[in-house]
Amino acid sequence: MDNIVLITGASRGIGAATAVMAAARGYTVCINFLKDEVAASAVVAGIHQQGGRAFAFQADISKERQVVEMFSLIDQNVGRISALVNNAGMIISQQKLVDMTGERLQQVFAINVFGSFFCAKEAIKRMSVKHGGQGGSIVNVSSLAAKYGSPFEYIDYAATKGAIDTMTVGLAKELADDQIRVNAVRPGLIHTDIHASAGEPGRIERVKTRIPMQRGGYPDEIAAAILWLLSDEASYMTGALLDVGGGL
Ligand code: NAP
Repeated sequence: MDNIVLITGASRGIGAATAVMAAARGYTVCINFLKDEVAASAVVAGIHQQGGRAFAFQADISKERQVVEMFSLIDQNVGRISALVNNAGMIISQQKLVDMTGERLQQVFAINVFGSFFCAKEAIKRMSVKHGGQGGSIVNVSSLAAKYGSPFEYIDYAATKGAIDTMTVGLAKELADDQIRVNAVRPGLIHTDIHASAGEPGRIERVKTRIPMQRGGYPDEIAAAILWLLSDEASYMTGALLDVGGGL
């Protein structure tokens, strides 16, 4: 049977690296993106060139209706998923809480928290043995920000990742008997566009002396951890928060 994985936010960064690695390991890969269709198509084309199977699906994961529509398009055009990587996430900019607008807080929580909840909900309906599925695996991409809180930068973002950690632990218990494992990876500082989109492209350079390994990580180093958690090699792991942060 085909192993089909949906990776949210897979047009760039950690999601794209996970998509390429998943395809190389035999998964059929569904690549979700928000705006950057050119980048998503390039990831799909790269996978095809390597002999893999991949499809791109545009949807804003913070909108439940769009998530529901994306899942039904995947059902119709690709098949029933057996794996989900809740990777899409964003940071707005560096600010203290006292300066953050309510609109900003709504947006960050809508994408980083509710988006993962909506996708998990649809995935459960396809994977759970209680819904006629064959079981499966969900990996949530959290952050070490959940542990450190990101003071003076983005405690809203850090708190969304705290919510993802709690969801991982609770959902793992809720789904253990449905034969769905739920785990999270908590990356440290990884070289992707997210730092530039939050207003400081050189952030890793500025703070890297705080990292015991004295360097930022690379998307492939997170993708490898995600794929291990998805795989049967992690068959007895559920509810785990796996830190991948160079010692942070
Ligand atoms: P990135 O390079 O900025 O890429 C973000 C991806 O998410 C893009 O594919 C983007 O799509 C997609 N996206 C954003 N909002 C979306 C929405 N509403 N619906 C669907 N897709 C959406 O980010 P990254 O650094 O790879 O981060 C991936 C995950 O790792 C995030 O959850 C992030 O919080 C987490 N993380 C990153 C780091 C780090 O240092 N990089 C550290 C810890 C945790 P478009 O291309 O279409 O805009």
